Amino acid sequence: MQRLGKNIKGYGGESIDIDAVLHDCVVAAQAHGWAIEEIHPAQKPILGFTRRASRITDHTSRLYISAGIHGDEPAGPLAVCQLLRENAWPAGLDLWLCPCLNPEGFGLNRRENREGLDLNRQYRTPEAGETAAHIAWLRRQPGFDLCLCLHEDWEAHGFYVYELNPDHQPSLAEAIVARVGEVCPIDRSQVIEGRPALNGIIRPTFDPRSRPDWPEAFFLIAHQTRLSYTLEAPSDFPLATRVASLVAGVIAVLEAGRPGRGLSSTSEG
Ligand SMILES: [Zn+2]
Repeated sequence: MQRLGKNIKGYGGESIDIDAVLHDCVVAAQAHGWAIEEIHPAQKPILGFTRRASRITDHTSRLYISAGIHGDEPAGPLAVCQLLRENAWPAGLDLWLCPCLNPEGFGLNRRENREGLDLNRQYRTPEAGETAAHIAWLRRQPGFDLCLCLHEDWEAHGFYVYELNPDHQPSLAEAIVARVGEVCPIDRSQVIEGRPALNGIIRPTFDPRSRPDWPEAFFLIAHQTRLSYTLEAPSDFPLATRVASLVAGVIAVLEAGRPGRGLSSTSEG
């Protein structure tokens, strides 16, 4: 599979009707027992979906997934919508899901929000109302065992994943890349986004205090979780391939689970 060559100085591919996509997400979520709330009330509100484990198991794990923080990355919200419709979550899983963190940006088909702020650089000192509301909502939730942030990269030669794993827990990165590789090329560059990479995996040695412009994943690692993956679909490939790559990455996590923590308990639906 070759790059399309549409992305010259930025994303040049398809845009989506985010209102329609979020409507589809809400319909699917309501059909499968999710609670839905407005994290940031607005003409295009930010929605938060939560669902408790469908049965009590020895190990209930808490999984958080977000998408759509950049308004020119349509594959994330579409992947979330597909996952909601398929409803194949393991039974012993408490779920938190933000299908689109930047609905205004999608309305403008651009990375930033209406005020021109990159919401994924706001998580240390938020100026944007969207981010302040999202942080307040996250603070009200319990800690998560695992967080997934779904993104796209317009420059990438294939899919890659960015792992934050400060306690050196068993990694899921190889399982994610293996599963995604069945449906999408992997970016095997030795440097991605200026960081050393190996077989589509970036493992930064990071200290959040050293960077002023925290992305969402830094806030999550600092306050809500000890294991986070940012999944990056390559947006110069067909949209269906990118959506499939993000769905496959999430499914890899659900299937591989965390040893002893039960993410991989019996599937339902
Ligand atoms: Zn992004």
